[in-house]
Amino acid sequence: MKQTLSTQPSSPAGQTNTGIIEALPVIAYLSPDPLDDDSYIEEDWISWIPGYLNSEEYGVSYLHPHNIDLARRIESFTEEQFQKAFKRLKSLWHDKYVKQMTVGIDYSGMLGSDGTASFDYVRSEPECGHYSFAVHRRLLYRYANQIIQSEQAASDNLGIWEHEIIHALDYRQILIASAFRDSKNPLNGLTYYTLRYREEGIANLLALLDGDIDGVHSIHEAKALFTKNCERVGKELLALEETSDNDRGKIFEGHDFYEAGPWLILDMLSDYYSVVHEIDMASIEKRIQNKETFSESEKLGILSAALKFISTSWFLSSIDAYLYTEGQNHN
Ligand SMILES: [Zn+2]
Repeated sequence: MKQTLSTQPSSPAGQTNTGIIEALPVIAYLSPDPLDDDSYIEEDWISWIPGYLNSEEYGVSYLHPHNIDLARRIESFTEEQFQKAFKRLKSLWHDKYVKQMTVGIDYSGMLGSDGTASFDYVRSEPECGHYSFAVHRRLLYRYANQIIQSEQAASDNLGIWEHEIIHALDYRQILIASAFRDSKNPLNGLTYYTLRYREEGIANLLALLDGDIDGVHSIHEAKALFTKNCERVGKELLALEETSDNDRGKIFEGHDFYEAGPWLILDMLSDYYSVVHEIDMASIEKRIQNKETFSESEKLGILSAALKFISTSWFLSSIDAYLYTEGQNHN
């Protein structure tokens, strides 16, 4: 039988007398696990962590009780941060089966990411209720410093996890987009590039509504930036007969999708908002520009509509119109 968040048996500690589980079953773990006999670890993979004690007293430094304690504190701090971020988005998970969220802490840099955290769709199995995430070294460095300075004084930066948790809610569409990711075909490469604006746009939508997005300030500006980037990327990709990972990496350079993406998503919700809610998207745009605050239910309502309606195919059919219109303007 499927379980939902409200009936998690694996986390009895979080159960309240109303039967609702307060705490999400999330497990953060150092990966590879220093206490696992089968793990192979080199000292310099782990010894850079702030607060780590370099000592050979116990053979290898990572078995020193001080370092084991530090590892456990990092894991529980990570779980706590994840829990707090999840709490805000909990209502969007009501129809999803969640058994466990795991967060691998990639201290060795094995995953090769220079980001802070990520949602790992490849290792996630939503049909089994399992979602997989990772903490990368940049965030681990920050967490470890917060822990050794004072956990109480640490300021939460939950936006990182909210972003990744929204990706997890978007799992199915991310999976569809991934089909284009590794293709050598230049046109598929261009499709994947455009879909980055969808994925990151939806994942950053709350940040935009929270007033935390800088760099792009209107739907118009976002469309112009998107069109300009797609023209450049399209031109460079289509000049090649087939593309390598390296080609695509170079051509896709830049991070404009984080800032332009959420505005494009708002634009694509215009029809839905005007028909269903009789709200003009221009009024929402103006409120963001004027730094007016939105209620939490307004924010989550917009995010929920984006996750529901702005599918990969909807996005691709909508940008056709952008590119066509912008192309006409250029001529
Ligand atoms: Zn992202």
